[in-house]
Amino acid sequence: MADCIFCKIAAGEIPAQVVYQDDAVIAFRDLSPKAPVHVLIVPRKHIQSVAHFTAEDSELAAHIFVDVVPKLAAELGVADGGFRLVMNTGKNGGQSVNHLHVHLLGGRKMTWPPG
Ligand code: 5GP
Ligand code: ZN
Repeated sequence: MADCIFCKIAAGEIPAQVVYQDDAVIAFRDLSPKAPVHVLIVPRKHIQSVAHFTAEDSELAAHIFVDVVPKLAAELGVADGGFRLVMNTGKNGGQSVNHLHVHLLGGRKMTWPPG
């Protein structure tokens, strides 16, 4: 989608520190990390948010959570110590980039509740 920063990163038009990519997904380091490990897992397909997933995205959603998250958590060294997944959704959810993404945060003790 035009003027979407994550579509541009997925297309290689804007540089990013890519840690994983395949035909369906790209993952890269957050520009403003909130933890020692902070990567964004992003489908190449422009989907606005998790609230906009449809049945045709079932395989993609499973791929993200069943394949990519565990693989990246292991490779980034946070699988054993634990990590947090965040999907800010919409205005009240604090979403600032309107292209679905999963934050994977780790490498420090997280607090609860989130701000
Ligand atoms: P949200 O607030 O939508 O949940 O998260 C968007 C995230 O994207 C933020 O953590 C922000 O730091 C990150 N971000 C915004 N623009 C860029 C960019 O151009 N490159 C990278 N790597 N991260 C970005
Ligand atoms: Zn997009």
